[in-house]
Amino acid sequence: MPETLKPDICVIGGGPGGISVATAAAAFGVPTVLIERHKMGGDRLDSGCVPSKALLAAARRAEATRNAKMFGVEARDGRVNFPDVHRHVRAAIAAVAPSVSVERMTGLGVRVINAPAKFKDRNTVVAGDTEIRARRFVIATGSEPALPAIPGLDSGPYLTNEGIFSLADRPEHLIVIGAGPTGLELAQGFRRLGSSVTVLEAARPLDRDDAECSAIVLAQLEREGIVIRAGVNVVGVAHAGRTVTATIESGGAEQTITGSHLLVAAGRIPSIANLGLDVAGIRHEWSGIVVNRKLKTSNRRVYAIGDCIAGTLGLTHAANYHADLVVRNALFRLPVRLNSDRIPWVTFTDPELAQVGLTEAQARQQGIKIRVTRLPYQENDRAQAEGELRGHIKVITTRKGKIVGVTIVGAQAGELISMWILAIVRNLGLRDIADLILPAPTLSEIGKRAAIDYLTPSLTGVWVRRIIGWMRIFG
Ligand SMILES: Cc1cc2nc3c(=O)[nH]c(=O)nc-3n(C[C@H](O)[C@H](O)[C@H](O)COP(=O)(O)OP(=O)(O)OC[C@H]3O[C@@H](n4cnc5c(N)ncnc54)[C@H](O)[C@@H]3O)c2cc1C
Repeated sequence: MPETLKPDICVIGGGPGGISVATAAAAFGVPTVLIERHKMGGDRLDSGCVPSKALLAAARRAEATRNAKMFGVEARDGRVNFPDVHRHVRAAIAAVAPSVSVERMTGLGVRVINAPAKFKDRNTVVAGDTEIRARRFVIATGSEPALPAIPGLDSGPYLTNEGIFSLADRPEHLIVIGAGPTGLELAQGFRRLGSSVTVLEAARPLDRDDAECSAIVLAQLEREGIVIRAGVNVVGVAHAGRTVTATIESGGAEQTITGSHLLVAAGRIPSIANLGLDVAGIRHEWSGIVVNRKLKTSNRRVYAIGDCIAGTLGLTHAANYHADLVVRNALFRLPVRLNSDRIPWVTFTDPELAQVGLTEAQARQQGIKIRVTRLPYQENDRAQAEGELRGHIKVITTRKGKIVGVTIVGAQAGELISMWILAIVRNLGLRDIADLILPAPTLSEIGKRAAIDYLTPSLTGVWVRRIIGWMRIFG
């Protein structure tokens, strides 16, 4: 017997975006239904942030063992036991899973339905035997791997982010198609865990990022033995026994590369097929669902958030930010305005690459008259102590000193960027950063030193800057 539910909010998709909306709505006592077709947690939990960062953590330990000698430490057995790495990755997923489980959501008062959802008309969604006629719907169906139309790709096995974390044995030679953040993070992870790795990229690797800073990441990856072939088109894939061969073309010449496994990390497409968007009057295009600045779709009852919307950055924290806006607008009728310019992003390679606001190239493209202030990790005491000397911070300001963007490449860049996110969002200036009293010695002082540098342009000597920095810290 079909059941009909009439909640205030019906969320489609149990990834980070959908769970954030459902959790907040339930916390305010709003009757809420959450529909998930597969497992709770979405990409983040099973095949995205959590397993990839767990794999990178293992890889970092392996690399640290190899480099221990420079600290006078003899690490005798740095052997990688890949099945144990696999167990560590699964354990990280298992540890995070309860926070997004059906049990937790049900305990909060959310009615969870495990079935694919589809709009039947403008006001109704069907999931299994249940019809939901909600006051508001929120589509949070995320994204899936984009599969390039390469002849032969389908003729044998290949991996995407949905299969790579299930590998219980180390790939002998991993060929990665795509040198974006996902492709390069996994390339470094597997290389450090003992695989040979070749990365194939048609465009510029990490092409969304500052070229000067991404070059530092790429140089390190190559130093570690990863082969990166940029500007090549993969024109064919052939599977034979336990091997896979990619044919690449560049400047009219073809070449083949043979490996044991193939990972396709060539971008994402929105998961919006079979959702019945057209019958619901919801505008969409190839890149996702079209939303306005309130994240409302062309059907005024329906919002869309996270990876499934057109033009989004495809990040967990972007999905959470969208969720926050929708909760404010849908539940409290507060005015909201999506501003994607301030969403930071980080590539968790080693060194890490973090960005908030405009890159130097973007600022120049927009015709902003900028000043660029750099400070290398080498000038930081903690970086010296830790042997983390690669990288620098790059602060982009207007000529009047307004901070318009910050790029950090180096150790813990993903943590160091937080101070600058606050600075940009709250319109703080470099004087505010220079006046901060930061604990010493910390890597955060790199940012403060950059600010001091900006404010004292005539004092360019390293030691003069150091002394001014020390005076500000200890004086
Ligand atoms: C390898 C990898 C590493 C990543 N690392 C990072 C990182 O370090 N930092 C970061 O910020 N982001 C990272 N991301 C991106 C991040 O995982 C996504 O941006 C985030 O998961 C998007 O959240 P979402 O809620 O929009 O969608 P998703 O997490 O994709 O969840 C969508 C959910 O909707 C469900 N669904 C889809 N269609 C239907 C339907 N018709 N009915 C019912 N349910 C449906 C799906 O099953 C899924 O559970 C990574 C991604 C990958 C692939």
